[in-house]
Amino acid sequence: MRVRARLVVFFVIAACGSVSAQDFSADPERMEERIHALGEFGKNAAGGVSRLAFSDADLAGREYIKELMQQAGLQVRVDTAGNIIGRREGSESGLAPIMFGSHIDSVPGGGNYDGDVGVIGAIEVAQLLHERGIVTKHPIEIVSFTDEEGGLTGSRGMIGKLGEGTLAVMSHSGMTIREGIARVGGDPDRLELAVRKPGDIAAFIELHIEQGAILHEAGVNIGVVEGIVGIRWWDVSVAGFANHAGTTPMDRRWDALVSAAELTLAINRVASELPGRQVATVGKIEAFPGAPNVIPGEVIMSLEIRDLEAEKMQHVFDLIQAEAGRIAGERSTPIQFTEIDVASPPAPTDVQMRRVIAAAAQDLGMSYEMMPSGAGHDAQDLASIAPAGMIFVPSLDGISHSPKEYTSAIDMANGATVLLKTVLAIDNGALE
Ligand SMILES: [Zn+2]
Repeated sequence: MRVRARLVVFFVIAACGSVSAQDFSADPERMEERIHALGEFGKNAAGGVSRLAFSDADLAGREYIKELMQQAGLQVRVDTAGNIIGRREGSESGLAPIMFGSHIDSVPGGGNYDGDVGVIGAIEVAQLLHERGIVTKHPIEIVSFTDEEGGLTGSRGMIGKLGEGTLAVMSHSGMTIREGIARVGGDPDRLELAVRKPGDIAAFIELHIEQGAILHEAGVNIGVVEGIVGIRWWDVSVAGFANHAGTTPMDRRWDALVSAAELTLAINRVASELPGRQVATVGKIEAFPGAPNVIPGEVIMSLEIRDLEAEKMQHVFDLIQAEAGRIAGERSTPIQFTEIDVASPPAPTDVQMRRVIAAAAQDLGMSYEMMPSGAGHDAQDLASIAPAGMIFVPSLDGISHSPKEYTSAIDMANGATVLLKTVLAIDNGALE
């Protein structure tokens, strides 16, 4: 079911303290037109975009975003980490800015909505304030983070966590992150100038497509994100005994792949049967020596667990390990787990912020649902220095990182209107 357009009328308390009625909602047509215009930069044959960070397409898309920011009355600059920031001063001096935005870089063969909706939506909010001459008390800063898909590069720079090691990493564009940052107008030798400390930002809000099917399938307008799930990875090795596949009878085998198969099913069962939204995945499996006529003597497979709570992730892992112990014993194939150091801890959003976003949706007559984000976002970095929140809008059939990615104009505008209302509520002290 498609969500219908609605006339949105709500009260805005202007900076001067007076109350005035406004018909004040994001313009779905303008947003969609801009999404399509942005989609021209890096357009691919399948109808999506390949706008890798630091590529020519990214550079062209960034120029377009800067133009839109200027049209919305913002002062535009690029920080030393390569983030585009459009700022509008507030009426009260000494207040930290309210920041909102997302990213416009894409994965190879990506779609037109991941990140883009958050940047176009943030500009829409600035434009609405500009057109109506509404001055907030806090400054506002619209941000388009650089190289989100390459590892949250821009937001990591903003929180002071972009080290030399990361700068040397080769990005998908064929240049190092250091070279890329310089190419988009940043200065990798002076990253400290991009750093914001706790207290420097009053609040951070990111509008984003869900990239999953929960909202679309339930016909719900808005997702209020409870946090970005934590991720843990393991290498799992199963030890068997390689032997002749023709001469070894079935009851005299220590087949590592059969154990690995049983473990894979057990992992899926453990994660499915527990209440909650935890996920566990075996995404990679390799058998050695890897020949049709040899019983696999060793298997190396991956295990990934994600959840909003660190304790829950540990609990899932404990249950999986117990299953592994049972399978190893029954089949005489020892199983070993080695954790890989890519762990990113869960990043819960600000509890007050969730309340403000939910109230905004409710006041606008939109349905909403509290939910985790299974994908990483710039908001998880900003959550370490400021109260952070995320607003999700539906993704058709939950498809993302694909040219088939789609979010309707109405859904995008719903999200931007909730963002607008959230920003104004925060400006009026909703988080205090
Ligand atoms: Zn994204």
